[in-house]
Amino acid sequence: MSLLGAHISAAGGLHKAIERAESLGCEAMQVFTRNPLQWHGRNLSDAETEAFRRALLSSGVKSVVSHASYLINLAGGDDVRGKSVSALKAEMERCYQLGIDAVVLHPGSAKEGDPAVARGRLSDSLRRVLDETDSCGVPILLETMAGGGGTLGVSVEELARVIETLEWETRLGLCADLCHLFGAGLDVATECGYERLVSSLSKHIGLDRVCCWHISDNKGTRGSGIDRHAHIGAGEIGTTPFGMLVSDDRFADTPVILETPKDGIGDEGNLALLRKLRGSW
Ligand SMILES: [Zn+2]
Ligand SMILES: [Zn+2]
Repeated sequence: MSLLGAHISAAGGLHKAIERAESLGCEAMQVFTRNPLQWHGRNLSDAETEAFRRALLSSGVKSVVSHASYLINLAGGDDVRGKSVSALKAEMERCYQLGIDAVVLHPGSAKEGDPAVARGRLSDSLRRVLDETDSCGVPILLETMAGGGGTLGVSVEELARVIETLEWETRLGLCADLCHLFGAGLDVATECGYERLVSSLSKHIGLDRVCCWHISDNKGTRGSGIDRHAHIGAGEIGTTPFGMLVSDDRFADTPVILETPKDGIGDEGNLALLRKLRGSW
């Protein structure tokens, strides 16, 4: 069984996120260790780090991932690339301190530029980050994206090529986002589609490198490039691949993180639905 969880707010302190996850019965969770819309994160105090580690140890949460800042663009021009490398390194160091398992990262965007050049920059920046964080060992999970605006990472194959240029460095993995893969055009809504996706992940990346899943339904249609998160079963995808994923032993011990809206049925309702679907495939 995969580890079922959600993206959890760290309002009031990072250890509060663990308490919230615990009260939802999460087995895994994702947090922002800092404001994702600002470049500079605060340094963590020893007390904050201790409180988080203690709360985690005594909770039922078995795996925590962090989502890196949205501002980071390792594939961007010179103006943004240096800041992005620094911000990602700081994030990895924070995760190391906190005992967080991995950092989920948007691969970045070519904006108006040439995607091939942008991919080269992404690889170079990743190499730099990995070289300069050698001692901390926190893996980077590249997230699959829905597309639009020169976004990189719209297919499993593209991210596999990036990892390949880094000689299959062991600290690189994938965060497969079902909502984004659907928006990017992959048929993940059907039983066959889900199986084809897992075969493709196995062939191009290796399932042991798929270290996190993001799940939400999508209000946008398949291939629209749209990424509008919806409650599980309340969008164009339906419940099929989500039920299959949370029942899939090939992803035992892999965090499956809800990124559904917080309104309406909220995390509680989506988790209850997934628990019902679990084991029915
Ligand atoms: Zn993301
Ligand atoms: Zn999204």
